[in-house]
Amino acid sequence: MKIKNIVPYVLSQDLEQPFYFSQWDYKSRKICLVKIILEDGTYGWGEGYGPADMIETGINFLKPFVIGQNVLENEKIWQMMYLRTLDFGRSGIFNAAISAIDVALWDCKGKVLNQPVSVLLGGVKNEVIHPYATGFYFTDSPTLDEDLRAEAKYYREQGFKAAKMKVGLGIEKDVYYVNLLKEALGEDVKLMIDSNHAYNYREALELCKRIEHLNIGWFEEPVHPEDFKGYAKLRENTNIPIAGGECEYLKFGFQRLFENDSVDIAQPDICATGGLTEAKRIATLAAAHHKDIVPHSWGTWIAISAAIHFVSNLDQNPGRMFRNAPMIELDRTENPLRDDVVTHQIKVENGEIKVPQLPGLGIDVNQNYLEKYAINYRKETAEVWS
Ligand SMILES: [Mg+2]
Repeated sequence: MKIKNIVPYVLSQDLEQPFYFSQWDYKSRKICLVKIILEDGTYGWGEGYGPADMIETGINFLKPFVIGQNVLENEKIWQMMYLRTLDFGRSGIFNAAISAIDVALWDCKGKVLNQPVSVLLGGVKNEVIHPYATGFYFTDSPTLDEDLRAEAKYYREQGFKAAKMKVGLGIEKDVYYVNLLKEALGEDVKLMIDSNHAYNYREALELCKRIEHLNIGWFEEPVHPEDFKGYAKLRENTNIPIAGGECEYLKFGFQRLFENDSVDIAQPDICATGGLTEAKRIATLAAAHHKDIVPHSWGTWIAISAAIHFVSNLDQNPGRMFRNAPMIELDRTENPLRDDVVTHQIKVENGEIKVPQLPGLGIDVNQNYLEKYAINYRKETAEVWS
Protein backbone atom coordinates (compact mmCIF):
# COMPACT_ATOMS: atom_id res chain seq x y z
CA MET A 1 0.00 0.00 0.00
CA LYS A 2 1.68 3.19 -1.23
CA ILE A 3 1.96 6.47 0.66
CA LYS A 4 0.20 9.24 -1.25
CA ASN A 5 0.68 12.33 0.88
CA ILE A 6 2.22 13.65 4.09
CA VAL A 7 0.82 16.79 5.70
CA PRO A 8 2.26 18.43 8.83
CA TYR A 9 0.06 20.69 10.96
CA VAL A 10 1.38 23.19 13.48
CA LEU A 11 -1.18 23.77 16.22
CA SER A 12 -1.03 26.46 18.85
CA GLN A 13 -3.24 27.57 21.70
CA ASP A 14 -2.76 30.18 24.42
CA LEU A 15 -3.23 28.96 27.97
CA GLU A 16 -5.73 30.42 30.42
CA GLN A 17 -3.28 29.93 33.29
CA PRO A 18 0.44 30.28 32.38
CA PHE A 19 2.80 28.09 34.41
CA TYR A 20 6.53 27.65 34.87
CA PHE A 21 9.19 25.11 35.76
CA SER A 22 12.94 25.33 36.41
CA GLN A 23 13.85 26.60 32.93
CA TRP A 24 11.10 28.86 31.56
CA ASP A 25 7.38 29.58 31.61
CA TYR A 26 4.62 28.35 29.31
CA LYS A 27 2.04 30.83 28.05
CA SER A 28 0.85 28.61 25.20
CA ARG A 29 1.06 25.04 23.97
CA LYS A 30 2.27 24.30 20.45
CA ILE A 31 2.65 20.98 18.69
CA CYS A 32 3.37 19.57 15.23
CA LEU A 33 1.05 16.78 14.13
CA VAL A 34 1.44 14.89 10.87
CA LYS A 35 -1.14 13.09 8.76
CA ILE A 36 -0.04 10.38 6.33
CA ILE A 37 -2.53 9.44 3.63
CA LEU A 38 -2.33 6.21 1.63
CA GLU A 39 -3.44 5.76 -1.95
CA ASP A 40 -6.73 4.12 -0.86
CA GLY A 41 -7.57 7.01 1.50
CA THR A 42 -6.50 5.25 4.71
CA TYR A 43 -4.70 7.70 6.96
CA GLY A 44 -2.63 7.72 10.13
CA TRP A 45 -1.49 10.34 12.63
CA GLY A 46 1.83 11.08 14.27
CA GLU A 47 3.35 13.93 16.24
CA GLY A 48 6.78 15.29 17.01
CA TYR A 49 8.02 16.51 20.38
CA GLY A 50 9.95 19.76 20.28
CA PRO A 51 9.75 23.14 18.51
CA ALA A 52 6.75 22.61 16.24
CA ASP A 53 7.74 24.89 13.35
CA MET A 54 11.17 23.26 13.08
CA ILE A 55 9.66 19.77 13.13
CA GLU A 56 7.27 20.83 10.36
CA THR A 57 10.30 21.88 8.30
CA GLY A 58 11.97 18.54 9.01
CA ILE A 59 8.86 16.65 7.90
CA ASN A 60 8.67 18.68 4.69
CA PHE A 61 12.33 17.83 4.02
CA LEU A 62 11.65 14.10 4.43
CA LYS A 63 8.30 14.12 2.61
CA PRO A 64 9.53 13.57 -1.00
CA PHE A 65 11.59 10.56 0.06
CA VAL A 66 8.66 8.89 1.84
CA ILE A 67 5.84 9.50 -0.66
CA GLY A 68 5.44 6.50 -2.97
CA GLN A 69 6.93 4.03 -0.45
CA ASN A 70 5.04 0.94 0.80
CA VAL A 71 3.66 1.69 4.29
CA LEU A 72 4.07 -1.95 5.31
CA GLU A 73 7.84 -1.54 4.93
CA ASN A 74 8.01 1.05 7.70
CA GLU A 75 11.35 -0.10 9.10
CA LYS A 76 12.89 0.27 5.64
CA ILE A 77 11.40 3.79 5.45
CA TRP A 78 12.83 4.58 8.91
CA GLN A 79 16.33 3.58 7.80
CA MET A 80 16.04 5.71 4.64
CA MET A 81 14.93 8.76 6.70
CA TYR A 82 17.77 8.17 9.16
CA LEU A 83 20.42 7.98 6.43
CA ARG A 84 19.00 11.06 4.65
CA THR A 85 19.44 13.16 7.81
CA LEU A 86 22.42 11.52 9.54
CA ASP A 87 25.09 13.91 8.23
CA PHE A 88 23.18 17.00 9.40
CA GLY A 89 21.30 15.98 12.51
CA ARG A 90 22.66 13.05 14.51
CA SER A 91 20.38 14.16 17.31
CA GLY A 92 17.60 16.71 17.68
CA ILE A 93 14.91 18.12 15.44
CA PHE A 94 15.39 15.78 12.48
CA ASN A 95 14.91 12.84 14.84
CA ALA A 96 11.64 14.38 16.05
CA ALA A 97 10.51 14.75 12.40
CA ILE A 98 11.44 11.10 11.75
CA SER A 99 9.54 10.15 14.94
CA ALA A 100 6.37 11.94 13.84
CA ILE A 101 6.39 10.21 10.45
CA ASP A 102 7.29 6.85 12.00
CA VAL A 103 4.41 6.97 14.51
CA ALA A 104 1.97 7.90 11.71
CA LEU A 105 3.28 4.98 9.60
CA TRP A 106 2.62 2.55 12.49
CA ASP A 107 -0.91 3.99 12.81
CA CYS A 108 -1.48 3.55 9.05
CA LYS A 109 -0.02 0.05 9.05
CA GLY A 110 -2.32 -0.99 11.88
CA LYS A 111 -5.33 0.25 9.97
CA VAL A 112 -4.24 -1.49 6.76
CA LEU A 113 -3.71 -4.79 8.61
CA ASN A 114 -6.70 -4.20 10.94
CA GLN A 115 -4.54 -4.71 14.02
CA PRO A 116 -3.66 -2.49 16.98
CA VAL A 117 -0.08 -1.20 17.03
CA SER A 118 0.62 -3.23 20.20
CA VAL A 119 0.06 -6.44 18.24
CA LEU A 120 2.24 -5.25 15.37
CA LEU A 121 5.01 -4.47 17.88
CA GLY A 122 4.96 -8.12 18.84
CA GLY A 123 2.05 -8.48 21.19
CA VAL A 124 0.57 -7.24 24.44
CA LYS A 125 2.78 -8.52 27.26
CA ASN A 126 1.24 -6.05 29.74
CA GLU A 127 -2.54 -5.63 29.47
CA VAL A 128 -2.83 -2.98 32.19
CA ILE A 129 -0.82 0.24 32.22
CA HIS A 130 -0.41 2.60 35.18
CA PRO A 131 -0.33 6.24 34.08
CA TYR A 132 1.27 8.67 36.46
CA ALA A 133 0.06 12.25 36.67
CA THR A 134 2.51 14.96 35.66
CA GLY A 135 1.50 18.26 37.15
CA PHE A 136 2.28 20.49 40.11
CA TYR A 137 3.77 23.20 37.92
CA PHE A 138 4.30 26.56 39.54
CA THR A 139 2.19 29.64 38.93
CA ASP A 140 2.06 33.19 40.23
CA SER A 141 -1.15 32.37 42.12
CA PRO A 142 -1.23 33.96 45.59
CA THR A 143 -2.79 30.71 46.81
CA LEU A 144 -0.18 28.39 45.29
CA ASP A 145 0.13 26.15 48.37
CA GLU A 146 -3.64 25.59 48.47
CA ASP A 147 -3.72 25.12 44.69
CA LEU A 148 -1.06 22.40 44.88
CA ARG A 149 -2.86 20.65 47.75
CA ALA A 150 -6.11 20.72 45.76
CA GLU A 151 -4.31 19.28 42.72
CA ALA A 152 -2.91 16.47 44.89
CA LYS A 153 -6.40 15.74 46.23
CA TYR A 154 -7.73 15.58 42.67
CA TYR A 155 -5.09 13.04 41.61
CA ARG A 156 -5.83 10.93 44.68
CA GLU A 157 -9.54 10.98 43.88
CA GLN A 158 -8.81 10.06 40.27
CA GLY A 159 -7.05 6.92 41.52
CA PHE A 160 -3.55 7.78 40.31
CA LYS A 161 -0.94 5.60 41.96
CA ALA A 162 1.87 8.08 41.32
CA ALA A 163 2.35 11.74 40.48
CA LYS A 164 5.32 13.88 39.49
CA MET A 165 6.16 17.40 40.60
CA LYS A 166 8.66 19.95 39.37
CA VAL A 167 11.67 20.94 41.43
CA GLY A 168 14.68 23.07 40.52
CA LEU A 169 13.57 26.32 42.12
CA GLY A 170 16.42 26.20 44.69
CA ILE A 171 17.03 23.62 47.41
CA GLU A 172 15.06 25.32 50.19
CA LYS A 173 11.96 25.92 48.05
CA ASP A 174 12.18 22.39 46.65
CA VAL A 175 12.34 20.83 50.12
CA TYR A 176 9.34 22.89 51.20
CA TYR A 177 7.16 21.90 48.24
CA VAL A 178 8.25 18.24 48.25
CA ASN A 179 7.18 17.99 51.90
CA LEU A 180 3.94 19.81 51.16
CA LEU A 181 2.99 17.49 48.31
CA LYS A 182 4.20 14.32 49.99
CA GLU A 183 1.85 15.08 52.85
CA ALA A 184 -1.00 16.05 50.51
CA LEU A 185 -0.68 12.90 48.38
CA GLY A 186 -0.33 10.55 51.34
CA GLU A 187 1.46 7.22 51.54
CA ASP A 188 -0.60 5.51 48.85
CA VAL A 189 0.45 7.78 45.99
CA LYS A 190 4.10 7.74 44.98
CA LEU A 191 5.74 11.14 44.43
CA MET A 192 8.44 11.64 41.81
CA ILE A 193 10.46 14.83 41.31
CA ASP A 194 11.87 16.39 38.12
CA SER A 195 14.38 19.25 38.07
CA ASN A 196 14.72 19.43 34.25
CA HIS A 197 18.52 19.46 34.68
CA ALA A 198 18.54 22.50 36.96
CA TYR A 199 21.35 21.37 39.29
CA ASN A 200 24.97 20.40 39.36
CA TYR A 201 26.00 17.17 41.06
CA ARG A 202 26.60 18.70 44.52
CA GLU A 203 23.28 20.58 44.52
CA ALA A 204 21.39 17.50 43.34
CA LEU A 205 23.04 15.42 46.05
CA GLU A 206 22.12 17.97 48.71
CA LEU A 207 18.48 17.87 47.61
CA CYS A 208 18.52 14.07 47.68
CA LYS A 209 19.91 14.00 51.22
CA ARG A 210 17.21 16.40 52.42
CA ILE A 211 14.30 14.33 51.04
CA GLU A 212 15.59 10.73 50.89
CA HIS A 213 13.52 9.73 53.91
CA LEU A 214 10.29 10.58 52.04
CA ASN A 215 10.41 7.47 49.80
CA ILE A 216 10.61 9.45 46.55
CA GLY A 217 9.75 7.40 43.44
CA TRP A 218 12.54 8.85 41.30
CA PHE A 219 14.58 12.00 40.71
CA GLU A 220 14.29 12.91 37.03
CA GLU A 221 16.94 14.89 35.14
CA PRO A 222 18.78 15.92 38.30
CA VAL A 223 21.83 17.26 36.42
CA HIS A 224 22.87 18.46 32.95
CA PRO A 225 22.00 15.90 30.25
CA GLU A 226 25.67 15.67 29.19
CA ASP A 227 26.87 15.07 32.77
CA PHE A 228 26.81 11.29 32.53
CA LYS A 229 29.34 10.92 35.36
CA GLY A 230 27.37 13.33 37.60
CA TYR A 231 24.32 11.14 37.04
CA ALA A 232 26.31 8.02 37.90
CA LYS A 233 27.85 9.55 41.06
CA LEU A 234 24.41 10.62 42.23
CA ARG A 235 23.10 7.08 41.76
CA GLU A 236 25.97 5.80 43.89
CA ASN A 237 25.28 8.26 46.69
CA THR A 238 21.51 8.30 47.15
CA ASN A 239 18.81 5.69 47.57
CA ILE A 240 16.44 7.69 45.34
CA PRO A 241 16.22 6.02 41.90
CA ILE A 242 17.59 8.26 39.15
CA ALA A 243 15.70 8.80 35.87
CA GLY A 244 16.58 10.60 32.66
CA GLY A 245 16.70 10.45 28.89
CA GLU A 246 14.02 12.80 27.56
CA CYS A 247 16.85 14.83 25.94
CA GLU A 248 18.44 11.74 24.39
CA TYR A 249 17.97 10.72 20.79
CA LEU A 250 18.22 7.34 19.09
CA LYS A 251 19.80 4.21 20.51
CA PHE A 252 23.17 5.95 20.57
CA GLY A 253 22.07 8.54 23.14
CA PHE A 254 20.73 5.83 25.42
CA GLN A 255 23.83 3.72 24.91
CA ARG A 256 25.84 6.56 26.50
CA LEU A 257 23.43 6.73 29.44
CA PHE A 258 23.61 2.97 29.97
CA GLU A 259 27.36 2.56 29.47
CA ASN A 260 27.96 5.25 32.09
CA ASP A 261 25.45 3.59 34.44
CA SER A 262 23.79 7.02 34.68
CA VAL A 263 20.16 6.05 35.29
CA ASP A 264 17.92 3.45 36.88
CA ILE A 265 15.01 4.45 34.65
CA ALA A 266 15.39 5.48 30.99
CA GLN A 267 12.79 7.90 29.62
CA PRO A 268 12.80 7.97 25.81
CA ASP A 269 10.22 10.26 24.23
CA ILE A 270 8.76 8.18 21.40
CA CYS A 271 7.90 11.33 19.44
CA ALA A 272 11.46 12.67 19.57
CA THR A 273 13.91 9.83 19.98
CA GLY A 274 13.14 8.08 16.70
CA GLY A 275 9.53 6.92 16.87
CA LEU A 276 8.20 3.53 17.86
CA THR A 277 10.69 1.81 15.57
CA GLU A 278 13.71 3.20 17.43
CA ALA A 279 12.02 3.10 20.87
CA LYS A 280 11.67 -0.68 20.50
CA ARG A 281 15.43 -0.91 19.86
CA ILE A 282 16.11 1.32 22.89
CA ALA A 283 13.94 -1.02 24.98
CA THR A 284 16.12 -3.94 23.91
CA LEU A 285 19.24 -1.95 24.79
CA ALA A 286 17.75 -1.07 28.20
CA ALA A 287 16.92 -4.71 28.88
CA ALA A 288 20.49 -5.71 28.02
CA HIS A 289 21.70 -3.20 30.64
CA HIS A 290 18.99 -4.19 33.16
CA LYS A 291 17.40 -0.73 33.20
CA ASP A 292 13.71 0.12 33.43
CA ILE A 293 11.86 2.18 30.83
CA VAL A 294 9.12 4.71 31.51
CA PRO A 295 8.63 6.83 28.38
CA HIS A 296 8.54 10.61 28.55
CA SER A 297 5.40 12.12 27.02
CA TRP A 298 4.44 15.78 26.72
CA GLY A 299 2.00 15.88 23.88
CA THR A 300 -1.44 14.94 22.63
CA TRP A 301 -3.26 11.62 22.87
CA ILE A 302 -1.35 10.59 19.73
CA ALA A 303 1.88 10.57 21.76
CA ILE A 304 0.14 9.10 24.81
CA SER A 305 -1.40 6.32 22.72
CA ALA A 306 1.96 5.53 21.13
CA ALA A 307 3.40 5.23 24.65
CA ILE A 308 0.57 2.93 25.78
CA HIS A 309 1.10 0.54 22.85
CA PHE A 310 4.87 0.68 23.38
CA VAL A 311 4.88 -0.17 27.11
CA SER A 312 2.23 -2.86 26.60
CA ASN A 313 4.89 -4.68 24.57
CA LEU A 314 7.80 -4.20 27.03
CA ASP A 315 9.40 -7.33 28.44
CA GLN A 316 9.22 -7.91 32.15
CA ASN A 317 12.82 -7.61 33.21
CA PRO A 318 13.28 -9.47 35.48
CA GLY A 319 10.10 -11.52 35.29
CA ARG A 320 8.13 -12.57 38.36
CA MET A 321 4.60 -13.53 39.24
CA PHE A 322 3.66 -10.34 41.11
CA ARG A 323 4.95 -7.27 39.38
CA ASN A 324 3.84 -3.66 39.08
CA ALA A 325 2.24 -2.67 35.78
CA PRO A 326 4.45 -0.60 33.45
CA MET A 327 4.01 3.15 33.70
CA ILE A 328 3.46 5.95 31.22
CA GLU A 329 3.56 9.68 31.78
CA LEU A 330 0.18 11.42 31.63
CA ASP A 331 0.57 15.19 31.51
CA ARG A 332 -2.35 16.75 33.38
CA THR A 333 -1.52 20.41 32.78
CA GLU A 334 -3.87 22.59 30.76
CA ASN A 335 -3.58 21.59 27.09
CA PRO A 336 -6.60 22.06 24.77
CA LEU A 337 -4.61 20.53 21.89
CA ARG A 338 -4.35 17.28 23.82
CA ASP A 339 -7.94 17.28 25.06
CA ASP A 340 -9.90 18.76 22.13
CA VAL A 341 -8.07 17.97 18.90
CA VAL A 342 -7.39 14.25 19.32
CA THR A 343 -10.32 11.93 19.85
CA HIS A 344 -9.95 8.52 21.49
CA GLN A 345 -11.74 5.99 23.67
CA ILE A 346 -8.97 5.47 26.20
CA LYS A 347 -10.15 5.77 29.78
CA VAL A 348 -8.20 6.14 32.99
CA GLU A 349 -10.14 4.17 35.57
CA ASN A 350 -8.88 3.64 39.12
CA GLY A 351 -5.47 4.76 37.95
CA GLU A 352 -5.31 2.15 35.20
CA ILE A 353 -5.44 2.13 31.40
CA LYS A 354 -6.39 -0.89 29.33
CA VAL A 355 -4.51 -1.26 26.05
CA PRO A 356 -6.75 -0.12 23.15
CA GLN A 357 -8.01 -2.82 20.79
CA LEU A 358 -8.83 -0.59 17.81
CA PRO A 359 -6.68 -0.82 14.65
CA GLY A 360 -3.59 1.38 14.61
CA LEU A 361 -3.09 3.69 17.58
CA GLY A 362 -6.84 3.83 18.26
CA ILE A 363 -7.08 7.60 17.94
CA ASP A 364 -8.39 10.14 15.43
CA VAL A 365 -8.32 13.90 14.97
CA ASN A 366 -11.34 16.21 15.13
CA GLN A 367 -11.31 18.19 11.87
CA ASN A 368 -13.19 21.17 13.30
CA TYR A 369 -10.71 21.61 16.12
CA LEU A 370 -7.81 20.99 13.76
CA GLU A 371 -8.98 23.89 11.58
CA LYS A 372 -9.42 26.03 14.67
CA TYR A 373 -5.97 25.44 16.15
CA ALA A 374 -3.75 24.72 13.10
CA ILE A 375 -1.90 27.95 12.34
CA ASN A 376 -0.77 26.64 8.93
CA TYR A 377 -4.15 25.18 7.93
CA ARG A 378 -5.11 27.59 5.14
CA LYS A 379 -1.62 27.75 3.73
CA GLU A 380 -1.26 24.22 2.46
CA THR A 381 -3.59 21.71 3.99
CA ALA A 382 -7.13 22.35 2.80
CA GLU A 383 -6.89 19.91 -0.11
CA VAL A 384 -6.20 17.02 2.23
CA TRP A 385 -9.76 16.99 3.44
CA SER A 386 -11.37 17.30 0.02
MG1 LIG B 1 10.97 15.57 32.64
